[in-house]
Amino acid sequence: MRRSGRLVFLLSVWCISVRAEPVPISRADLPVAAMVESTLGTASKQIRQLAFDGDPTTFFASTENPGAADHFTLVIDKPVSLKRLTIITGKPNGADKLESGTVALSADGKTFDEAAKFANGTAKAEPDGRLIQAVRITPSGDLTHPLVIRELTIESEPSIATFRYPVEFVVDVSDSPDLKSWADKAARECERYYPMINEELKSEGYKPPQVVTLTLSSRYNGVAAASGSRITGAVKFFKAHPDDVGAMIHETCHVVQQYRGRRTNRNPGWLVEGVADYVRFFKYEPGKIGPINADRAHYNGSYRVTAAFLAYTAEKYDKQLVLKLNTLMREGNYKDEIFKEFTGKSLDELDDEWRASLKK
Ligand SMILES: [Zn+2]
Repeated sequence: MRRSGRLVFLLSVWCISVRAEPVPISRADLPVAAMVESTLGTASKQIRQLAFDGDPTTFFASTENPGAADHFTLVIDKPVSLKRLTIITGKPNGADKLESGTVALSADGKTFDEAAKFANGTAKAEPDGRLIQAVRITPSGDLTHPLVIRELTIESEPSIATFRYPVEFVVDVSDSPDLKSWADKAARECERYYPMINEELKSEGYKPPQVVTLTLSSRYNGVAAASGSRITGAVKFFKAHPDDVGAMIHETCHVVQQYRGRRTNRNPGWLVEGVADYVRFFKYEPGKIGPINADRAHYNGSYRVTAAFLAYTAEKYDKQLVLKLNTLMREGNYKDEIFKEFTGKSLDELDDEWRASLKK
């Protein structure tokens, strides 16, 4: 959506697409991705991923005081050989340390064996290369304070990717509680791809929102919309199209774009939407974009049409094109002439060339 304080509806038939299983971010030689699961709620901005972001000054904190049935679990995408593990709990000022609790490891994410106990808020394990797929922290009994986890430090082969862009999607399905599991699934998917989206749309000094609300509304009749760090999806649409998680990825791109302020209001809508659909259809779900009508397509056709134009132009002239356009739009410095600077050709020239390529 364009940044204007009002919701602009995304009404697009191409959002109705069936998606295959998510493509894992990691490959054999890259760090393995992980997610955090917990029985506990998140206190204000102290989101789960802050416990594994490589920064011991930030921390996860629970809303409630946990008991022995609660846990905080790092679930790793595939088994890694664990060499060393250190977990520090408690706030940087020393408050709310976990004095009595355990760390358990799991090879399959289902059965857990105790590997270490907490002492003075810290737990350490050196399990000698054992294959693990999950690390679980559990208090020994009822605590009189929240669970606060400052940092997990894990040495493994391959390594596990820390959360470079920590985020938590907070789901509100009060309009339609039966969509809770769908919304949770979509939220986890958007969290999982948040690092990828942020790498595609990064610019110097920019930090994306860390808390995003995802609300399913029965009063809203579009598909989905984003405003600031709030995403709204239509109950009616997602009930009919549960496979269209990609529409939420598109909105997540808008949250990351954060083209806020008066100057960035001048960013052309076709490009704002085109960049979001570029990330969606060329990075998140490649191959799902569907046919583009070569006779009617223009660079400023918005959404997937502009996305296809950007992909063509980036591939042929400048692999950093979208990154650069995003930076300009975020700073309020975009103008159409910039294409000539980046590619040596005007938008109209590029448009003709792209359309001709579609007819081949
Ligand atoms: Zn949009």
